[in-house]
Amino acid sequence: MKVIDHLRNANKTLFSFELLPPLKGHNINGIYKTIDPLLEFNPSFINITYHQEEIVYKKHKSGLLEKKTIRKRPGTVAISAAIKYKYPAVDVVPHLICGGFTCEDTEYALIDFHFLGINNILALRGDAPKGFRAFIPEKEGHPFASDLVKQIINMNKGHYLDEEMENIAATDFCVGVAGYPEKHIESPNITSDLTYLKLKIDSGAEYITTQMFFDNEKYFSFVKRCREAGITVPIIPGLKPITHLNDIRSLPQVFNIDIPEDLVREIQKCENNEQAFHVGVEWAIHQSRELVKFGVPVLHYFTIGISENIRQIAKAVF
Ligand code: FAD
Repeated sequence: MKVIDHLRNANKTLFSFELLPPLKGHNINGIYKTIDPLLEFNPSFINITYHQEEIVYKKHKSGLLEKKTIRKRPGTVAISAAIKYKYPAVDVVPHLICGGFTCEDTEYALIDFHFLGINNILALRGDAPKGFRAFIPEKEGHPFASDLVKQIINMNKGHYLDEEMENIAATDFCVGVAGYPEKHIESPNITSDLTYLKLKIDSGAEYITTQMFFDNEKYFSFVKRCREAGITVPIIPGLKPITHLNDIRSLPQVFNIDIPEDLVREIQKCENNEQAFHVGVEWAIHQSRELVKFGVPVLHYFTIGISENIRQIAKAVF
């Protein structure tokens, strides 16, 4: 089922979560171990992230550095299919990015998803590769997520890149896009960010999943600004419970988000990661309950491969 149909049919807040493919060389069983404890809460869908190639430097004995390009977490398409067929009651939402893809590569990836019976995509641009300041699209690729949305919607209308093809089978993807309650890091201001968010919706995306936030007021005000800007689609809040002492430093750096003073104070009182993990769970329960009261369509959790905290939160909330 499409995410938008889950949202339309729901009479209460739904539960969903995001998984990362395992690191290259690791077993898919780790994915199932993350999913299994969460099944009792009836997840409507599971997102699977996409990871672009990274540039790494290998130091040789001679002191020379060798530049290598590697994909640390391949397997998004295969994992999406494996989950879909192992857990028929749960839908999968693979992420697809512009980075590293030509338009033709994108078309082939979409054809694979279509053949696999997967009809949900979260369409993203992707970040600048590590060590680079700016995102650089492939020569024949998309510079922005809105362009990727347009290509997917074109395929839904039966328009492939080769316009001369005949007897075309149109795809039928439900497309979601990312939104940033605290503004995307590269955006000069929230108004500009919302202009481009609206472009993604006007291009055919049917819902928004947000970046993590730790202060619900940021989400409430984002929803209000979206509505004022004419963005009417469902806005799914993304939640990431704190798990480590260092999260209060690393998360703002990586995701351009604020951590509220109260939460920072609570984490600073912790003596170890175990205590920080517990504070993270309590904070997320509080956030989740308030969001349910607000009437959010789904609570979407970023697992980063850990399900015990999400299990404790879901048990308290659903
Ligand atoms: P866009 O919507 O293209 O926006 C990027 C920036 O460009 C913004 O500042 C926007 O305001 C601006 N902009 C947009 N259109 C235009 C335009 N036409 N002209 C000028 N400026 C414009 N990354 C991954 O690599 N893999 C994942 O699986 C992944 N999953 C994610 C899931 C969620 C829920 C979220 C919130 C993010 C995820 N990301 C993922 C990170 C995402 O790829 C980055 O945040 C990226 O920097 C921006 O992606 P976007 O799709 O929001 O880009």
